[in-house]
Amino acid sequence: MSLSLSWSVVRVNTKFEFKIARSAFSHYNRLILELTDGQYLAYGEAAPNIRYEGDTKEIVAMLDEKKPQILELPVDDAETRQLALEKMFPDSFSLQAAIDTVFWDLYAKRDETPLWRHFGASKDLAISSYTIGISDLDAIPAKIVEAAPYPILKIKLGTDYDHEIMRTIRKETDKVLRVDVNEGWKSIDDAKRGTEWLIEENVEFLEQPMPALQLDDIAKLREFSPIPIVADEDSVRPEDLKNLVGAYDGINIKLMKCGGLTNALKMIELSQKYEFDIMMGCMLETSIGISALAQLGSFARWLDLDGNVLIADDPYLGVGNIGGKIILNDKPGIGVEPR
Ligand SMILES: [Mg+2]
Repeated sequence: MSLSLSWSVVRVNTKFEFKIARSAFSHYNRLILELTDGQYLAYGEAAPNIRYEGDTKEIVAMLDEKKPQILELPVDDAETRQLALEKMFPDSFSLQAAIDTVFWDLYAKRDETPLWRHFGASKDLAISSYTIGISDLDAIPAKIVEAAPYPILKIKLGTDYDHEIMRTIRKETDKVLRVDVNEGWKSIDDAKRGTEWLIEENVEFLEQPMPALQLDDIAKLREFSPIPIVADEDSVRPEDLKNLVGAYDGINIKLMKCGGLTNALKMIELSQKYEFDIMMGCMLETSIGISALAQLGSFARWLDLDGNVLIADDPYLGVGNIGGKIILNDKPGIGVEPR
């Protein structure tokens, strides 16, 4: 039976304003894809990030233009499909991810198998962190209260008051912390000062402390730092990984950067080759995007799949999140349905 594809743009609101070193938002537009063969209905999501690409309007224009070609993509040959997607949409990784996801979801639904099982993954996932974005100091205690169910917190730094943020958080909690600087420390001296200060703060890892491509500086920082250093903005696509050897201990895989599950699988394979610890992260995504990457979650040492729980009005239901424990279900595909 022939396939039909439709899409909609949904606005989701965050529980708190979500602020990091370079941006601040309280709502986001997400593109939701639906693909059906008349029997099964599959879902995919694009959560474009301004660091990497344009917005949902641009994505919709690309979809309008390429819809006939998308419908000709193979359901059961992910490699061929991914190559075609990279040619069709070379600059929109989140659109590649949405299409890759919707095809994988359909594939596994036809097979009546959860994708995690198809990929040889398991339901045993590491505890995910819960992100505390940048805010005024007096707003931090309420955020720590909101985060009470979550044993691991990810703290966004990269401001000119990082020490005050950490001091305020440490007054409220002694939980394990992960620190994400989002490229905020611009020089090796800043980065060394920032890191030195965190050594005694029970920090599990330090994510993208310096601007992407400053790999010589990162390598120096890695020698200096007892805290593992994880690439995020430096670890976008599978082909980036070989350049990061020696500079980073781990890499952060996100669907919306790498272009979908097919490329995420490639990055997992390459991480084994280059001996990187694997982190899996997300943008502010609905349960479609989060549930999709969670299918591969058991391959990661560190999970940061909290996008859906940071949204106040997620229109979808998929994986559960109980105190950071991501609960995969046994439904076919990515296991998502409308709320
Ligand atoms: Mg990050």
